[in-house]
Amino acid sequence: ASFTELGLIPPLLARLTELEYQQPTPIQAQAIPSVLEGCDFIGGANTGSGKTAAFALPLLQQLYAKQSFSRKRGQGNYVTGLILVPTRELAKQVADSIKSYAVHFNGEIKTVSVFGGVSVNTQMQALRGGSDILVATPGRLLDLISSNAIKLDRVKALVLDEADRMLSLGFTEELSAILSLLPAKKQTLLFSATFPEQVQTLTHKLLKDPVEVQL
Ligand code: AMP
Repeated sequence: ASFTELGLIPPLLARLTELEYQQPTPIQAQAIPSVLEGCDFIGGANTGSGKTAAFALPLLQQLYAKQSFSRKRGQGNYVTGLILVPTRELAKQVADSIKSYAVHFNGEIKTVSVFGGVSVNTQMQALRGGSDILVATPGRLLDLISSNAIKLDRVKALVLDEADRMLSLGFTEELSAILSLLPAKKQTLLFSATFPEQVQTLTHKLLKDPVEVQL
């Protein structure tokens, strides 16, 4: 299938042409239509599989199509799409990819990344007025929630990226604290290279009738 056949809209298709993505990778071909339909999704996929675009493209499209960004922003520090990642490097990388995919949305989608190891002040400023997509490591996200810089009660979509690494790095407690702050009704996507018991438990607790793809 081509990206057009997967149902992506012109502002994204134009960007993919510019980036010279000629055809979807297997995880993209499977994830994009399901995520656009609103399904929960489990993807067994490694770095290099194209998993970032597999969740980023349909999430951007949903935000844009529903115009949910314009209603949410300016009303406080709300977040619409939350992407949790294990490391600072991955947070930056995922946020950069999303910003790149969104260039033809004319600045209408605001993507922010927060992670530890740097001062909170710049991140707090970036969060002011809300964010359409927030890419975060668990520890820094909780810090910013305690200082009221982020509110999670209007999250519509949650992505757990590299879930196995997130748990093996010891973020289990942080993760449950964050998950308890999210609305029950949301779309959840989980990507993981491996599925040890901890990840399976999390998957069963969190996802509803997910479409599951193991590469
Ligand atoms: P990821 O697995 O998300 O870390 O992506 C790995 C690399 O593949 C990134 O540099 C992407 O820009 C690139 N990429 C993702 N999807 C495609 C595609 N369909 N065609 C060509 N390159 C891609």
